[in-house]
Amino acid sequence: MTYNKVDEKVIEKLKEVVGDEYVFTDKDTLENYSHDETPMYKSMPEAAVRPGSTEEVSKIMKLAFEKNIPVTPRSGGTCLSAGAVPIYGGIVLSLERMNKIKEIDKKNLMVIVEPGIITEQLGNELMKHELFFPPDPVSLDSCMIGGNIAENAGGPRALKYGVTKNYVTGLEVVFSDGTISRLGGKLLKNVTGYDLIDLIVGSEGTLAIITEATLELLPMPKIVVDLLVPFMCVEDASQFAIDITKETYTPTAIEFMEGEVVRAVAQYLKRKIPFEEASAHTIIEIDGDEKEQVGKIYDKIGDRALKYGALDVFVGESANDRQKIWEPRKNIGDALKELTTIVAREDLVVPKDQIPPLINQLKECVKKYGAALYAFGHLGDGNIHTDVGMDDYSDEKQEDYNDKKKVDDMRKEMYEITLSLGGTITAEHGIGLSKIPYISMALDVTQVELMKKIKKIFDPKNIMNPGKIFTDQ
Ligand SMILES: Cc1cc2nc3c(=O)[nH]c(=O)nc-3n(C[C@H](O)[C@H](O)[C@H](O)COP(=O)(O)OP(=O)(O)OC[C@H]3O[C@@H](n4cnc5c(N)ncnc54)[C@H](O)[C@@H]3O)c2cc1C
Repeated sequence: MTYNKVDEKVIEKLKEVVGDEYVFTDKDTLENYSHDETPMYKSMPEAAVRPGSTEEVSKIMKLAFEKNIPVTPRSGGTCLSAGAVPIYGGIVLSLERMNKIKEIDKKNLMVIVEPGIITEQLGNELMKHELFFPPDPVSLDSCMIGGNIAENAGGPRALKYGVTKNYVTGLEVVFSDGTISRLGGKLLKNVTGYDLIDLIVGSEGTLAIITEATLELLPMPKIVVDLLVPFMCVEDASQFAIDITKETYTPTAIEFMEGEVVRAVAQYLKRKIPFEEASAHTIIEIDGDEKEQVGKIYDKIGDRALKYGALDVFVGESANDRQKIWEPRKNIGDALKELTTIVAREDLVVPKDQIPPLINQLKECVKKYGAALYAFGHLGDGNIHTDVGMDDYSDEKQEDYNDKKKVDDMRKEMYEITLSLGGTITAEHGIGLSKIPYISMALDVTQVELMKKIKKIFDPKNIMNPGKIFTDQ
């Protein structure tokens, strides 16, 4: 694609829209916006802007549309498919200043927010009103609601409560030409025409910029208990997870960390984790309103765990004990980065009974490429994260064609294995930039062509986060 450059005149116009202090062209700021959390992807923008209102977003898009300049929307920058990397340069449009809660509607159990609010901060504010927004990506201390909607983020609690799209009832968006549009509202049912909200949720910033969201809430569960249950093998942990989800109570989460991951995190956190020698640690969360009822459920789950060969069942009831149980799970990314060079962070999903063969086959696969696989993630819903480490890989080697090709070939083989087990190549991180070469392995030509046509209708000049999901329009 050919685009125009962000020249001095464009910078001046951007300054008129948002004010001098919110337009950035300095190297350090642009460097921050040149990458997200995806290993190996980076590209410098020409300018970054931080608008403070929908009207300002609209004016920026009008300008970009008129001048034919690509725009990459950005919230927290925690994306794991390089979706927030401005591959064609242009403007990074950061929503971080638009971070207000506009309304908490206790009667209708709804909240209206700007896209730049950090997910955890929203949860903390809602807690003061005994209200609950369930989607909980593990990155929630730094990702933002706009990014969660753009990626249709899930999280551990997706097992019981579903993913972000299940809670979005209304959106305000800005289209590529600057038009502002409001979709839906505080409505629990709505079949007025095609469901454009569902189309925009998960569209990775390629169709519209989300400037406001109306989200459905639930009452805050009064009791939450976490169990840490180590097993000697992944197969036992998987059987246990399948068994307990067949019961009438659904655990909030069933998470998993394989042995090598547990040992890496223990080393990183410099703390002991019980049964570090085990092969699979699971975390089971249960919530409810009555202490007695939750107690009965976790007793039952604990008995079932022992039947499947659990080494022990540790119960966390207090906030402190629960935090201790979750701390290793929340620090996996940083622990693995310290251990080795991570060349791929995957979010594969298979029918949940296929998790043990998936992990076994992937381990064999990456070994052939001189790499090691670290598996963890959402055991309860079949979405397993597999970070791949190559000890001898370095930043300089990224430039080396052979090494890049080696990683690309390895990833292709990993996806082939996942697809052969009835799965798909991304459960929650999106296609972004990093999975573009592989999308046609998972979708047929008709489906990809239809998606490209939809993109063209929304964004005829291809300036909305171009170079994402598909190679070319
Ligand atoms: C340690 C770690 C743990 C993670 N755990 C999970 C997890 O449990 N579940 C999960 O689903 N993901 C997880 N992720 C991935 C990531 O956090 C999510 O995809 C998250 O939703 C991204 O939000 P963000 O605010 O950081 O968005 P960004 O990274 O800023 O952007 C993500 C994408 O959305 C687009 N975008 C951002 N804001 C807007 C907007 N307002 N309008 C339109 N498009 C926009 C961007 O262009 C980009 O394509 C994890 C990441 C890390 C680093």
